[in-house]
This record gives sequence, structure tokens and C-alpha cells, in this order.
Amino acid sequence: MKNIYSNIFKVNNKNLSKAIKYLKKKELVALPTETVYGLAGNAYSSKAVKKIYFLKKRPYKNPLIVHYYNLEQLKKDAKLNNNFFKLYKKFCPGPITFVLKKKKNSLLSKIVTANLNTIAVRFPKDKTLKKILKSFNFPLAIPSANKSSQISPVSAEDVAQEFHRSIKIILNGGLCDIGIESTVVDLTSKPKILRPGLIGPADISKALNRKVTISEVSKIISAPGMLKKHYSPGIPMKLDQTKAKINEAFIVFGKKYKKGKNIFNLSYKSNLLEAAKNLYRTLRIIKNKNYKMICVSSIPKTGIGLAINDRLNRAAN
Ligand code: AMP
Ligand code: MG
Repeated sequence: MKNIYSNIFKVNNKNLSKAIKYLKKKELVALPTETVYGLAGNAYSSKAVKKIYFLKKRPYKNPLIVHYYNLEQLKKDAKLNNNFFKLYKKFCPGPITFVLKKKKNSLLSKIVTANLNTIAVRFPKDKTLKKILKSFNFPLAIPSANKSSQISPVSAEDVAQEFHRSIKIILNGGLCDIGIESTVVDLTSKPKILRPGLIGPADISKALNRKVTISEVSKIISAPGMLKKHYSPGIPMKLDQTKAKINEAFIVFGKKYKKGKNIFNLSYKSNLLEAAKNLYRTLRIIKNKNYKMICVSSIPKTGIGLAINDRLNRAAN
């Protein structure tokens, strides 16, 4: 497909160097991660981090996830504990974010953590992002590259649609592998899951050898940065529907649903991983088609289905 956006760059050495140079200059770069596309800036620079909040129109009370290349780097900013080491060994690099206590002498910009004494950290697996992180001695604040509370981007074109030309460099790594944001697990006291993702409660419970559950919605909402409305297409949504009118978009799962112009099947083969990967793409397509109502069939609440249901619930809020 012809690239119609002049700010989308394919990943090669020349463009990687350009992106790295930009980030060193406290400018922002949009880039792929294995979960969704992110908007990256130097987490030690308030100037860079302010640009992230400004572009996303993100409230300052909603802290950003900080991305590290290795433990050496993280040790400067966070207090590590046994539960962290167990999960790190099992799942990193990967789609999991840990909330930890922040070190007093950390160099992090205060606004990254919304002035809290906690910090959310992740070690991403994406090859391009790892190369970038390796090239400097500061971590990157990377929220999803979309306007606050809207649908997360899973391709470089999605990012361009969100921000037009206000981001100078969007690195194109193709479609994201997972397509849904990282699991967020709070390890500052008794471990709890603030946001489900590909790595679910069963995986985390097994790794920690204790039962870890997803916080109830009411508790999640009171956690820092957990907004009630999120991941939203800006169109009313009805969940757990068995049918839809012809002028409504109908998001379904599995082969029991007929094909049709207004039917959007997340996975004909009833594969939840495929459904997760298709979720935001589908919501964006429906939004671009100007539907006024979205109905969604029930989606199994197992494995990554828990994360899909979490995002749908918040998108429908
Ligand atoms: P997102 O809103 O998708 O960027 O995800 C970031 C989430 O990570 C937030 O919604 C918070 O729940 C969590 N988070 C980020 N930073 C912190 C922090 N410093 N303390 C506690 N939770 C955090
Ligand atoms: Mg986001």
C-alpha cells in the first residue's frame, strides 16, 4: 500500500537513528510495541513528558507507564521486591506493567508519575523499541498513541489518524502482535491486577504461588489513573447482545453469526487471541463508517477474553 502520510517511516537504520536523535532532543516519537502503538518521550525530562500530556489531552492526574531496557536502569528509579523478581523472571520482556514504590532520588520527571510515590514500569519485547531503549541512559514514558480516552492505535496509520502531522516521526512496525494493552499489576502491597491483559490472573497466581485477582471495577476506578471511560469509540455501545438492527454495527465472536454488511466478526474461529488483535481495528473501522450505535455479542470471559471484556466495558461507559 502506498504511504500517503509523510510522517510515517519504515523501520531501517537511517530512520531508527533519526528517531533516537529526536528522543535525545526531548522530542516525541510514535512507535510500535507488542501491545499497541505508543507515544514516546524521555521520562527524565519534564519538557518531553509535558508534550505527551499536551498532545494526548491527557489529564495530569493520569500517570504514564515508564519503559526500561534492563534492570540496571530500573534500579535507579524503583524499589524492587520478591514478587517483582518472580514475575520479571517469568514474563519479561513482555506485555506486563508493574506498579512499584518509587525511589526518593529517582531522576524521573514528577509529572510522569502524577506526583505519586509509585511508578508503573514495563520491559517491552518489541525489537525496534528495544534497540531504541538500548541507545540511551534514560527510560521512555510511553502511553498509547491516541487522544485520551479514545481507541488505542494498533497500526502506524491509526496513529496518523489520531494526530495528523503533530507527531513528526511515526515508526511503522506493521500491525501490533497482541493488539491490547499490557496487564497492570500492583506490587506495592498485596499483589492485585489493576488491568487485565494477555497475561491473566491464572498466569500471575501460578508465578507467585498465591491467588491474585483482578480488582473490582469500583476499586480500579479509584486507583491512580484508572479512568472509568477509556478505549472509547465515541459511539454508544450495548454489550451482551444477541442481535442488532441493520443500521447498527454488530461486533460478534464465533461462527454462529451470519455474515453481513453491519456484522464485524472478531474471530470466526472463536480464537480469543485473534479477537483481541482485531478489537481496536474493528472499533476504528466502525467509527470511520459513522455508525451511530454499536452492539456487541457476549465474548467468553476466559484467558485474554477477560481483557477484551474489560476494554469493552470501559469503552461502553
Ligand atoms: P494507560 O492509561 O493505558 O496509559 O495505562 C497506564 C495505567 O498504569 C494507568 O491507568 C494506571 O493505572 C497505571 N499507572 C501508571 N503509572 C502509575 C503510577 N505511578 N502509580 C500507579 N499506577 C500507575
Ligand atoms: Mg492508553
